[in-house]
Amino acid sequence: MATGRVRDFLILIGHAWICLDCRRMLLEETEATLVGHKLSEFERERLMEMADSSFRTMMDLEAATGLTAEEVTLAIDHPRSRLRHFGKRVRG
Ligand SMILES: [Zn+2]
Repeated sequence: MATGRVRDFLILIGHAWICLDCRRMLLEETEATLVGHKLSEFERERLMEMADSSFRTMMDLEAATGLTAEEVTLAIDHPRSRLRHFGKRVRG
């Protein structure tokens, strides 16, 4: 069982899996979408390389992110993944 703080990376991945609008934002405007999130260089590189195909199945998502199945499940089920859309403002 994973406990404790969940990394921003997991929240980003979890929400992008659930929310198609934010997934599109993440894929098309990755740099702008990642502003303000705490990410390691490895995590940032993974996100920069993600594509629509990374979200086809949970196994594709595991391969694209380098996360384990348990971490991907944790990311998708986490309340923080469900609560909030990504911060980039679409209109002022
Ligand atoms: Zn969203």
